[in-house]
Amino acid sequence: MIGPWFVRTVGDGDTHRARTEHWTADGRAQIRPICDPTTLFTALNREPVAVPYYDDHRCPGCLAAAHTRAPYRPRHLALVR
Ligand SMILES: [Zn+2]
Repeated sequence: MIGPWFVRTVGDGDTHRARTEHWTADGRAQIRPICDPTTLFTALNREPVAVPYYDDHRCPGCLAAAHTRAPYRPRHLALVR
């Protein structure tokens, strides 16, 4: 799993996963999102979240990146008759 989510705005699809994060002395997170590492924003949330409260807040680009970067884990299947 890639890191936690950070809120840029309260709009749909604008909660991103951080490619890099820098915490200021007063506790704000400066985020460069996975979907656009050239952009820097100050997260609205003071604590990173593991899962956004609403599914539609997740950025589709960051969500897709998270799925493509997931480490391969072999599945163990059982055959039941
Ligand atoms: Zn994103």
